[in-house]
Amino acid sequence: MSIGAKAGKGIRCHNEALLRLLGKIAHQCGTRAFLVGGPVRDMLLDRFGPDIDIAVESKAQTVGKEIGRRVHGRFVFHSRFLTATVTLPDSSHIDITQTRTETYSRPAVLPRVKPAPIEQDLFRRDFTINAMALEITPFRFGYLLDPCSGQQDLKYKLVRILHPKSFIDDPTRIFRAIRFAIRLGFGIEPQTLKLMRQSIKSSYPSLLTAERILYELRLISSETRRLQMIEAIKREKLTRTCLDWSPPSHFLSKLKLLSSRTRNPELFFILILSNLPDTGNFPITKQERESARAINRFHLIHSRLMRAKRLSTIYRLLRPIPEPALQILSRIEPRAVARAINLYLNRLSSIRPTVTGRELRKLGLMPGPKYQRILDRLLYARLDGLISKEKEYNMARRLIRQKKV
Ligand code: ATP
Ligand code: MG
Repeated sequence: MSIGAKAGKGIRCHNEALLRLLGKIAHQCGTRAFLVGGPVRDMLLDRFGPDIDIAVESKAQTVGKEIGRRVHGRFVFHSRFLTATVTLPDSSHIDITQTRTETYSRPAVLPRVKPAPIEQDLFRRDFTINAMALEITPFRFGYLLDPCSGQQDLKYKLVRILHPKSFIDDPTRIFRAIRFAIRLGFGIEPQTLKLMRQSIKSSYPSLLTAERILYELRLISSETRRLQMIEAIKREKLTRTCLDWSPPSHFLSKLKLLSSRTRNPELFFILILSNLPDTGNFPITKQERESARAINRFHLIHSRLMRAKRLSTIYRLLRPIPEPALQILSRIEPRAVARAINLYLNRLSSIRPTVTGRELRKLGLMPGPKYQRILDRLLYARLDGLISKEKEYNMARRLIRQKKV
């Protein structure tokens, strides 16, 4: 479908009916509305993402609530950011944001935000290709606002910042520049590249919080060309500046191997974490932290795993390792080790003793550490084929009678 845009050419749009509806709702609420940023860029490139970013000049909350009601979506309002999110039944999102200006009191801190008309809102953005808006309010539907010549940069395939202080105000834009350039197959415009390198050289990225850097690494982990992005980050010494991390080439090979075997962004991210110098204070989940640590220490059990003759030995060596770490290791370790890990994941980890704790109790065992030890002994014997399911009960009885277990 083609929108009759004032952009000089028709813009192909796969969700025009929905956009018209959103524009109408905003109009009924008394405000202008625009499709902004990524979706406009992607539409002009004939690429389509699932999410929709709408900017309204006022009443973001009212518009968001009304959209939620009309499209049967789940509505959430984030008052701090003046942003409403509607999650549709197919789990795609519509973000509705109040147009704003941003002022940076210091480099690399989050900006102060003030409501402002759309034209000013576009000037606070990161790159020209992300600083376009397509009006969706009735009567002006399809009108393209492009005050920074984003269309021209799309044509010449360039990522270009809007003003010289951009990478000082917000060094996360360096990650973003690399991400967009590689995702879209664009170049970074020469002056932008020069300023990006100056910002890195002057260590502005080191002023970023770990949380913001990790957020960028998570985004990269979801990208198809994530490996190239990590390589570019290394080349530009970006994470050396802000995380004291420069991924060594043997580690890049592991990332490459993992990437060729799974698309899973979380596993890619955890593997990165495992190579970072210190994740102690990072805002990550317990499972991520423990998985990263287990990967880091895997070499300590590597040779024991290779020599393992019994299934119970494999079981005992791998049981303490969180599942995401095993999923990663099974894809990056040499074949013999990978086979043992897969055996554990697919078979051994789900085997349980048939004798239950309650039955042990009935056999006269008082609650205490011996419980677990006996259950473990039964399981190991089962894994190693020393007893059948049927004989487990007898073995339990025997163990309970023994003093030393
Ligand atoms: P993607 O396809 O990855 O979602 P996007 O352009 O939509 O790309 P988002 O991170 O979703 O990127 O951000 C939405 C818009 O908000 C961007 O297009 C850009 O205009 C603006 N934006 C996001 N981050 C920044 C930033 N750090 N500085 C300035 N503007 C930003
Ligand atoms: Mg987006």
